[in-house]
Amino acid sequence: MKVLVLGGAGYIGSHICKALFLQSHQSVVVDNLSTGHRQAVRWSQFIEADILAGEQLKQILREEGPFDLIMHFCAKSLVGESVENPAIYYRNNVVGTLNVLDAMVATGHDKLVFSSTAAVFGLPEADKINEQHSRLPINPYGQSKKMIEDVLADYHHAYGIKSVALRYFNACGADPDAEIGESHEPETHLLPNILKAAFADNASGLKVFGADYPTADGTCIRDYIHVNDLASAHILAGEYLQTNDGAFAFNLGNGNGFSVLQVIEAAKKVIGRDIPFTVEAPRAGDPPVLVADAAHAKATLGWQPLYTDIESIIATAWRWHQNEMF
Ligand code: UDP
Repeated sequence: MKVLVLGGAGYIGSHICKALFLQSHQSVVVDNLSTGHRQAVRWSQFIEADILAGEQLKQILREEGPFDLIMHFCAKSLVGESVENPAIYYRNNVVGTLNVLDAMVATGHDKLVFSSTAAVFGLPEADKINEQHSRLPINPYGQSKKMIEDVLADYHHAYGIKSVALRYFNACGADPDAEIGESHEPETHLLPNILKAAFADNASGLKVFGADYPTADGTCIRDYIHVNDLASAHILAGEYLQTNDGAFAFNLGNGNGFSVLQVIEAAKKVIGRDIPFTVEAPRAGDPPVLVADAAHAKATLGWQPLYTDIESIIATAWRWHQNEMF
């Protein structure tokens, strides 16, 4: 496949570009480098552009296409930031994606794999969240992604855009060769913050946001899924769209929940060091538990996550953090 990867310089997008390359697919990356890294684009042609520039996007699709598939990762994705500053979430995630869709319609492209999120569900009504779970987001980030999921259904009906929305639970881990990995500034995600705290010279230490949630140890439970398992799901979803017509959605997770304290314990074992932390106030917009039921993706796409235990995921992230290159 020839794939346009919007946001391919970011954490998840760059791992997908490597996976595409390893499976002999061709990719072109468009990224504004707002949070991504130029050094992470190693297996693709690179074009620096912003999806908010709709006319430029159309030009890229016309000049560099036709593409068999568009994958769209460009988004703001921090729950807390979205509560404080919803305007940038609706602009980037909703207006930006409308630009992508309109550019596709204008240039005759009709297949999209879209990065969605477990945050579209809001507070869980079941132990594991499947695709039938109601979507009632509790923060603007989740709301912005839910809006686009609804837009995708309408664009399929009206303009024939075929799409797969992949709802990630907690992406983590790094390329096992440690060529690329997770690197955000500022870093807000749990696992990279644990690993940073494990370095002896990290004076700030680790903050655990909330220890009074209705969970066994009082800390939030999440479903941690390796970024390369997300990568394989994207390629399967892209292949699925070559022969299936609709606006589809799949939940992607391991189906196992780990509390913040359990992740810290697992990291201690992998790293062989103590990891000091302090308990702080809960973060706005964080639901207590989010765990996926990914049976639908497994049955329909033939997806099988390879990193099923938290320690092997942490080991790949630790290797990357030890020799982080960007
Ligand atoms: N968390 C934490 N300390 C940190 C970062 C995150 O206690 O430095 C908690 C956060 O409150 C949530 C869980 O870890 O309960 C996962 O947060 P993350 O930001 O990694 O992902 P999210 O679930 O928000 O997508």
